[in-house]
Amino acid sequence: MEKLLNFINGEYCEPINGKFIDNYEPATGKVYSLIPDSDANDVEKAVEAAEKAFPVWSSMSIEERSAILVRLSEGIERRMDEFVAAESKDNGKPVTLAAHVDIPRAVSNFHFFATAILHYASESHYMEGVGVNYTLRKPIGIVGCISPWNLPLYLFSWKIAPALAAGNCVIAKPSEITPYTAYLLGKVAQEAGMPAGVLNILHGLGGSVGDAIVKHPKIKAISFTGGTKTGEYIARTAAPMFKKLSLELGGKNPNIIFADCDFDEMLKTTMRSSFANQGQICLCGSRIFVERSLYAKFKEAFVEKVSRSIVSNPKDPKANLGAVVSKPHMEKVLSYVELAKEEGGTVLTGGERVILDGEYKEGYYLRPTVIEGLDYTCRTNQEEIFGPVVTITPFDTEEEVLKMANSTQYGLAATLWTSDLQRAHRMADQLHSGIVWINAWLVRDLRTPFGGVKASGVGREGGWEALRFFTEPKNVFIKY
Ligand code: NAD
Repeated sequence: MEKLLNFINGEYCEPINGKFIDNYEPATGKVYSLIPDSDANDVEKAVEAAEKAFPVWSSMSIEERSAILVRLSEGIERRMDEFVAAESKDNGKPVTLAAHVDIPRAVSNFHFFATAILHYASESHYMEGVGVNYTLRKPIGIVGCISPWNLPLYLFSWKIAPALAAGNCVIAKPSEITPYTAYLLGKVAQEAGMPAGVLNILHGLGGSVGDAIVKHPKIKAISFTGGTKTGEYIARTAAPMFKKLSLELGGKNPNIIFADCDFDEMLKTTMRSSFANQGQICLCGSRIFVERSLYAKFKEAFVEKVSRSIVSNPKDPKANLGAVVSKPHMEKVLSYVELAKEEGGTVLTGGERVILDGEYKEGYYLRPTVIEGLDYTCRTNQEEIFGPVVTITPFDTEEEVLKMANSTQYGLAATLWTSDLQRAHRMADQLHSGIVWINAWLVRDLRTPFGGVKASGVGREGGWEALRFFTEPKNVFIKY
């Protein structure tokens, strides 16, 4: 069985304790590789390598650093098919999705920050007749990047790229559930001529190697994407050490549909915003609110379309949905369907596991599910399910839908469908969320601030926000 390895000091190596854990293929439910069960000793080894590399990397000219990161981006692009196949196999997502979204976005992430750093400038503040301030923005040193399983290389690179571009050395940990593309990234870093120790990739469990990254005193900043509970723990651990923290956490996003929207466009996009990546995108709109006058028409058309969705093995080019990421996750999602029924909901379509044939019969497939008849305050409508399950709820007024939309502890993204421009502005202004899409979903400009409010996180990623996070400002004043 293939053994994945850590990437430390520019080389692949086994974990110091020699222990490995199973890596499952969601499409078949079978173990197909082993990953290092790393711990604090591996973190120590990576920190030593990063400490040695930091003076070299941080003092390199930005043109040189940029060129290495551009080569890294091109290296992934060259190995596109290998990365796409690996991402789909590891995560269960359709190959078509990995080919159109995940891996191209990882290529863009590196390219975007490789070039952004060339334009990054520090500020100066002139004081008339007194003197001038200039603000240096220096790399922090060694930073930790911890990412989840839903968009594995996409989110891993979204952190690593700005951290490296800004001149930091990185200790990165992908999710233990989807380690494969992060493992491949080491090879690309070698080929791109990345100096040893600049990028270190450690595999293993959150509670051991992840925790050791968060607790290591020489790792000065933690950029984390994952669940709100984990984020809370990381904040509690890192805050007393005065580490810089960027936390991108869970969501329970509203998709608000007014009767004056472009119905066909809305329906097409709502299929994606509900079920893309098996509903396992933090930005998916899992609570759909529909203006009452459109409710019956929407319900009929949506349920009909959802029930025709093709759930199939990830290699099937016709698959709309592949497998969800793991058995425990599949069971969690199904438990929420049961909860919804207990809470008085009616399952309009889906709600069950799909058993495919042959080698895929043990895979983790779920039928996309639409539920109605639930109160907006119930657990199904308040807790993050993170699977192919949405609820639909009618509303009468803007005021009412805003109250329902803003009622959860989360505030990551919101989608709004209307052709009334004034209403769009009014609603966008009042939605408690870090991102609002109007008549669109998941349109991403990498320059924009990305992140959530309330329990969806602290801080923003993207563009200058990310480069500011990964640098420490130092103001220098010179008297005239
Ligand atoms: P998770 O919190 O279980 O794990 C995320 C990462 O943290 C993994 O690498 C894990 O090993 C690590 N980890 C776990 N415990 C840790 C600890 N004590 N110390 C350090 N690291 C630890 O989340 P998940 O199940 O992998 O991902 C799903 C969650 O991620 C959902 O809640 C989803 O909404 C969220 N998410 C948020 C965004 C965003 O941008 N806001 C994007 C994608 C996913």
